[in-house]
Amino acid sequence: MVAALHIRNGTLVDGTGAAPLPGTDVVTDGDAIIAVGPTGTLGHRVPAGAAVIDATDRTVMPGLIDSHCHITFDDVQSNDELFFHRPTATAAMLTLFNLPKLLMAGVTSFFDPDTVMGIGPEIRDVVNAGAFPGPRIKTGVQALLTSVGGTAGRLIPDSGAVGYAAVVNNREEMVTETRRQIKRGADWIKIHATGSIPTHQGELQVWTLDEMKAVCDTAHALGVPVTAHCRNASSTLDAAIAGVDLILHASYIDDDGLQAIIDRGAAICPTFTFLANLADYGDRVGAGNGMTEIFRGEITATATMMRKAFDEGVPILSGSESGFALTPYGHWHAREMEVFVDQLGLTPLEAIMCATKNNAIAMRMEGELGVVAEGYRADLLVVDGRPADDVTVLQDRSNLHAVISRGEPVDLTQPWPTRSKIAGEKVGNWAAEILTYDRAKRPDDPGRG
Ligand SMILES: [Zn+2]
Repeated sequence: MVAALHIRNGTLVDGTGAAPLPGTDVVTDGDAIIAVGPTGTLGHRVPAGAAVIDATDRTVMPGLIDSHCHITFDDVQSNDELFFHRPTATAAMLTLFNLPKLLMAGVTSFFDPDTVMGIGPEIRDVVNAGAFPGPRIKTGVQALLTSVGGTAGRLIPDSGAVGYAAVVNNREEMVTETRRQIKRGADWIKIHATGSIPTHQGELQVWTLDEMKAVCDTAHALGVPVTAHCRNASSTLDAAIAGVDLILHASYIDDDGLQAIIDRGAAICPTFTFLANLADYGDRVGAGNGMTEIFRGEITATATMMRKAFDEGVPILSGSESGFALTPYGHWHAREMEVFVDQLGLTPLEAIMCATKNNAIAMRMEGELGVVAEGYRADLLVVDGRPADDVTVLQDRSNLHAVISRGEPVDLTQPWPTRSKIAGEKVGNWAAEILTYDRAKRPDDPGRG
């Protein structure tokens, strides 16, 4: 166990958006940053026996925070797999298997809004106790859905709970479930404010303003904030008015929605990464479905308003939606910053601020986390390269010279966790295509039915 670290002569990117400071030392003692200053001036502050990390020609910055990570989903390929092929115990064990990947990718904290059968608080607590390695975790239990459902269509039952979803059918159930989750240890309550129905294109609002307000009032009275998945304009507006603290996606947000967010002091985590991966690389893994331009269009439509929100001072948070086959753990946590630079026109330093200082909001650790300054927690990266010029260097793990989590260097020489398939974990397809008579007997006939 390392008690203290002396990180010498790096270029400091402190997470606040301030200009990089070359020739800077950072000293940690346990889980605290105890001094930051010009190289050669901090000798008297360095605890005896501190390990030295040479950061010459390297960048020293806060550990990355991911404000939208589904740690219990295990890189699933489909909703069927997610809801029906992850028994609770399997999901919990695979979560512990996957957690080190985040640390090895420079993610020292994350917020998980909803978890398979609500195991988030238990995962958080065993990691906090040091029983298993992992980043700092703030977590919801299960997402509250009305019986209309969310993005999984008719897989969601009319009542009860399945996978990450808890169905609530009236005001009383909404209030009771909120209280139950807080008793269980929820750091946040999550509402799925929009969902899909077969007769409607895109997602539509499936909660009323009053229903959302009932959850917000109940949670706030117990000191717990609320986040909401909002994939259209009206849900974003109503969620903000109801008192939702963190809006996920805010797709197609309009001026009224933005004004409500400003008035209420809410934050937004747009989470473009999933869509961006689908648009840019989906066809490489059989996921594009010819809808590339539609996905790209949703990003472009929302990005303009997100830029406006950023300029108005709304905290924009960086989240990757990791946990799906298109966003596997340890690979894309830094991609959102690239989208912020490309689509919102943020500077790399502003994008880094979203993924560090701003993301402390999702961790409920503002003033404690996400900035390299005296008194903050000791989560740090030492990076080969200049993320202040090009944020994409943070996507390539080989650029991480050191990852420091709670004051301790992560072993970056350990092999990347791999495993083989578990019996029953995948949806068993009989066949990828339909075996018609013509396909069997006349395979060369292009007109076969
Ligand atoms: Zn999500």
